Amino acid sequence: MKKVGILALQGDFAAHEAAVVRAGGAALLVRAARQFGEIDGLIIPGGESSTMLRLLHYDNLMQPLAQFAREKQVFGTCAGVILLAKTVTSPAQESLAAMDVDVERNAYGRQNESRIVAIEPEADMGADKFEAVFIRAPIIRRAGASVKILARYNGDPVLVEQGLHMGATFHPELTTDTRVHARFLAKL
Ligand code: GLN
Repeated sequence: MKKVGILALQGDFAAHEAAVVRAGGAALLVRAARQFGEIDGLIIPGGESSTMLRLLHYDNLMQPLAQFAREKQVFGTCAGVILLAKTVTSPAQESLAAMDVDVERNAYGRQNESRIVAIEPEADMGADKFEAVFIRAPIIRRAGASVKILARYNGDPVLVEQGLHMGATFHPELTTDTRVHARFLAKL
């Protein structure tokens, strides 16, 4: 069984842990550098990307995480895809540049910052729509030519894949549909 690490410094890592198990994988909560050697892939959960960055530096995990992302599969959801992006705006902050996407944080605005919508997958994700939960979500403003767009909302990419990595601006761990986590597991 493939073992998926879930970065567990902050955010909704427990929901990802349950979602990985629902999708048929084994989950390990990752809080120390040595654990990167024990996992086949990593999920960076939703939460607050600026807080996660502070904790990554505080725990000396920035370099091991960047190294892991150069070699192995990483799936970032919401704050996680903000950390994987090439550039981040609103406000600008450091990121791993592991995926060729530019993101704008909190891009749906403060008044109407969270919503649940039905999304039609675009590529080999099955024909059924899936529910996408957006919570103070970023918008992917640019996706490079080598980024595959698996789903869009209002024309903007919300589920993307590039090489080893995947990114979602919504929270697939908060619904019972296992397709998104299953796709990540299949990459390991
Ligand atoms: N607004 C958060 C950020 O900028 C992301 C929100 C989330 O992960 N649900 O990091």
